[in-house]
Amino acid sequence: MNNKHELPISEETRKFLESKHLLFINGEWIESSSGEIIPVVDPATEEKIAEVQSGTKDDIDLAVRSARNALEAEWSKIPSHDRAQILHRLSDEIEANFSVLSELEVLDNGMPMQLAQYSIASHGVTLLRYFASWAPKIHGKTIPVSPGGVMNGDSLTYTKREPIGVVGAIIPWNSPLIFAILKLAPALAAGCTVVLKPAELTPLTALYFAHLIEKSGIPKGVVNIVTGFGETAGDALAKHEDVDKITFTGSTEVGKKIVSSSVGNLKKVTLELGGKSPVVVFNDADLEKTIPGVARACFFLQGQNCMAGTRVFVHEDIHDELVEGVKNMAEAFQIGHGLIQTNDFGPLISGDQRNRVMKYIKQGISEGATLVCGGHETNEKGFFIEPTIFTDVTADMAIARDEIFGPVLCIEKFNNESLEAIAKRANETTYGLSGSVWTNDIATGHRMAALIDSGQVSINCHAAVDPAIPFGGNKQSGWGREFGEEGLGAYLKTKATTVIY
Ligand code: ADP
Repeated sequence: MNNKHELPISEETRKFLESKHLLFINGEWIESSSGEIIPVVDPATEEKIAEVQSGTKDDIDLAVRSARNALEAEWSKIPSHDRAQILHRLSDEIEANFSVLSELEVLDNGMPMQLAQYSIASHGVTLLRYFASWAPKIHGKTIPVSPGGVMNGDSLTYTKREPIGVVGAIIPWNSPLIFAILKLAPALAAGCTVVLKPAELTPLTALYFAHLIEKSGIPKGVVNIVTGFGETAGDALAKHEDVDKITFTGSTEVGKKIVSSSVGNLKKVTLELGGKSPVVVFNDADLEKTIPGVARACFFLQGQNCMAGTRVFVHEDIHDELVEGVKNMAEAFQIGHGLIQTNDFGPLISGDQRNRVMKYIKQGISEGATLVCGGHETNEKGFFIEPTIFTDVTADMAIARDEIFGPVLCIEKFNNESLEAIAKRANETTYGLSGSVWTNDIATGHRMAALIDSGQVSINCHAAVDPAIPFGGNKQSGWGREFGEEGLGAYLKTKATTVIY
């Protein structure tokens, strides 16, 4: 545990934290109509570091009106090359403000600095540039048919891909800036306007990002940011009759609420929800690569990650060696404040989340799983829990069934069962987001990948993320795909036009 140093924060970050944080609507900074604020806490110290506005239904109404006006006024009509240029300028702004964004992300979310820097550089900037480059490549098709029953004569049918309209984006706390960018980049490239509601626990990087949006030349009202609680601001956005689409990342439970809130105007919905992803390790796997791969798959972001590989199925021949290796890695993590560069394992996001994870750990022990390492909170300030590994886990245990969203790895064995039998165990979950297969036999790798019922399966790595790789869930892990061409398509609608001549 390494929390004791003076925290290194730049002057710019300190100034931002001390400033008054308002709502960003129609290019103006305004107070919420509630007059109420939400404290923002550093999860590594439990200290309040800022206060943000608690947005209301009225604030959401104002933000949606502003997004509608901006859509109709110019954003959807400006030449796509210009849209691309503006988005590239926004990427330049992220690069120019990289250290402040990284520091704020660490303070707000608790993630280790190395991870904040890596994710902002490799995912944030790359994502934005990737979707910026798509803007001028959006086009329809011509379709060579003569529709019957209209009129005799020659005809031409063509399709256009139009922006879907006003988008409501509701994002979670586990990777706040990346999720803001993941929603904004394809929406803006497609010509949509957006009302973004960050998670109440982690609103800071989105608010700092709003200043970069102002500088980049994105017209007023194209992006509006309303901080607030899910049950108030989030719900008002999901229910809003003038919002054309909701894009949501968060828990499956809230995803279901969003679906029912959205039915009023049948707005389109994209959902990226929970996961309980399997990691299947065969006895020919290269353990030198597999052991760190398995540890990272689960403990990345302290396990607060929808793609986390939390259920390992390992061949009995190599079970003990794998467990020993992953245990050594888990025990080698430097737990502590993310601003201290050498720390690589941060706190959970909140006291509630820590208590929830501890409840699962106790339940795992009482249900008969073997605790290999971890299992404790640290005694100091901050919502820390040690990386925890269980073996002798069975499918009926709560730790194997539920998405814990914490650093808890469950390991089960298999022997010489068929691939189908192993896949049946791997698929015994209501989720289907990610998964991985570790083997030196490429045929086994592909066969197993085909049998795993998830939107994404990786072979000899876990959760490969790239702006061009479609990502999303099967079963109760979600609706639709983000990233890549499919991710852009989620912000477009097709219009078919036929002319008879
Ligand atoms: P997690 O379980 O990961 O905390 P949630 O799914 O609770 O994530 O929250 C993700 C986002 O959904 C947050 O921005 C939160 O404010 C928002 N949210 C929570 N409840 C609702 C709701 N009923 N309607 C709309 N948004 C909500």
